Amino acid sequence: MILSHQSPVPWFDDFVGVAYRYYDLRMNVVPLFSDRKQATNLWHDTINRWLDHSIRVRFVETGDDYWFIMAADSQNPQTNMSFFKMLPKSENYERFKKGHDGEAYLRLGIYSDKYLKDVKKDAVCKCGHVAEDHDKNDEDACLYEVCKCRKFESFQVNLLKKKKIVTDIAFLEEKNAKDDSLAWNCLNVNKYSKIK
Ligand SMILES: [Zn+2]
Ligand SMILES: [Zn+2]
Repeated sequence: MILSHQSPVPWFDDFVGVAYRYYDLRMNVVPLFSDRKQATNLWHDTINRWLDHSIRVRFVETGDDYWFIMAADSQNPQTNMSFFKMLPKSENYERFKKGHDGEAYLRLGIYSDKYLKDVKKDAVCKCGHVAEDHDKNDEDACLYEVCKCRKFESFQVNLLKKKKIVTDIAFLEEKNAKDDSLAWNCLNVNKYSKIK
């Protein structure tokens, strides 16, 4: 008799967020990392071994937040991981939800903060005004009198080139999560079992 010693796939949430972008005519779902090396290694060790048709992405909505959940069968189960992250709903998230049309590219992205010294004149600050409207001689504060911005801040996302195609995408409410085995498993392990 052969006994299976295969342990459950570990859950991973050590990434900074998820971006949604149009790129190559298809929507992209992009888990974000601040460290390029970490993202490259993770792609190589885990995601690259995934069987495309087995990749499942779930979005479980709860109030103003949602759980991003992603898992797949791997050709190399020893290095497999499942991903999750609780995130606030955003405009880009809603755009993806409406526009994905049943499939998306999965890519990893590198997220970096950008300050006034890093950007061109027309880069847009989180306050909505461009870089040249901020004052280097006043700690990078916004020059618009009505604006409360005290320091230029922006960010940049670079997408890694490698991609996988995801065709199993579902959106659900938390109250219906038990209808979906992946969503239910994730919430049980990462939420319900931690509320004691
Ligand atoms: Zn401003
Ligand atoms: Zn600003």
